[in-house]
Amino acid sequence: MLANYFRDHTMNKVEQWQLAVRRKLPLEQKIAMSLNRIRAWDQFWDLVSVSFSGGLDSTALLHLVRSILPDTQAVFVDTGLEYPENKQLVKSTENVLIIKPKKKFRQVIEQYGYPVVSKRYSQYIREVRNSKGYTATKRLRLTGYNSKGEFSAKSMIPKKWQYLIQSPFKINDRCCFWLKKQPLRKIEKMGYMPFVGTRAAESNQRAQSYYRYGCNAFDMKHPRSTPLAFWTDQDILDYIRIFNVPYSKLYDMGYKRSGCMFCMFGLPFEDSPNRFQRMKLTHPKHWKFCIEKLGLGPVIEYIGCQWNIVQPTLPGFEKMIFGLPE
Ligand code: SF4
Repeated sequence: MLANYFRDHTMNKVEQWQLAVRRKLPLEQKIAMSLNRIRAWDQFWDLVSVSFSGGLDSTALLHLVRSILPDTQAVFVDTGLEYPENKQLVKSTENVLIIKPKKKFRQVIEQYGYPVVSKRYSQYIREVRNSKGYTATKRLRLTGYNSKGEFSAKSMIPKKWQYLIQSPFKINDRCCFWLKKQPLRKIEKMGYMPFVGTRAAESNQRAQSYYRYGCNAFDMKHPRSTPLAFWTDQDILDYIRIFNVPYSKLYDMGYKRSGCMFCMFGLPFEDSPNRFQRMKLTHPKHWKFCIEKLGLGPVIEYIGCQWNIVQPTLPGFEKMIFGLPE
């Protein structure tokens, strides 16, 4: 009964204006709201876990969850693409279950293709390349028009990126499935229902999911709770600082975000120095491996980005903030 109360009480659709209001609340109030959602999730399921990558968001989340549920299992998916500093933090954290995906990044890119520009465009490019003849899907992805003659800009590959359909290498959006989703399904089968540190502001897809389910997505095909969904970047930094939470050294090396080291999603939209140029300075061995051994150099050039640096310091690099920004 109590579990159902929590479920009904927190499974609210959220309007756009409500998210805007929540994002402006003081941190203290956000923490209280997030703790309510964490309690509700824990009350409803037999087993819960925290997806922990060693990045700032999941570091703050794990600390918050364990402040009221100290024995909560943390789960780290060792994709082989994590920054060594994040891995170091994971290894020094108690009660972390480490799982490995069935496939490695190299296998995924060889078998399916490279993840480039964005997940959505990689998917559309794959669909067009796999189409036999001028199918409805192919027309939609190339022109934005569906069978009823309705136009949707979001459904097409922007003209700027349509040349990628002819690329001399394979492009695919399956990487996230093999490296991240498939291992988490394993955890789900063990009965763990995850807390995840994703936030609505990170992408349109995450915002839409938040409007539809709120923080606790009980009715999703793969249920998950995102108690920090309405937090800002600054909230995460403030939380880590106020509660003196140990965090990855990566953020003292000028990085604002972590994520997969060799991913090319979002790369064309990044300022210089981009993640690969920065990696050459901070993680030269990893850089050499991905550029030379995994063949990322030509792919990065093909999408119009830089992977090398000609000067020891790049314009812009000196502007990077070392240590967590205030
Ligand atoms: S974020 Fe990029 S590199 Fe990481 S799993 Fe997804 S597609 Fe692969």
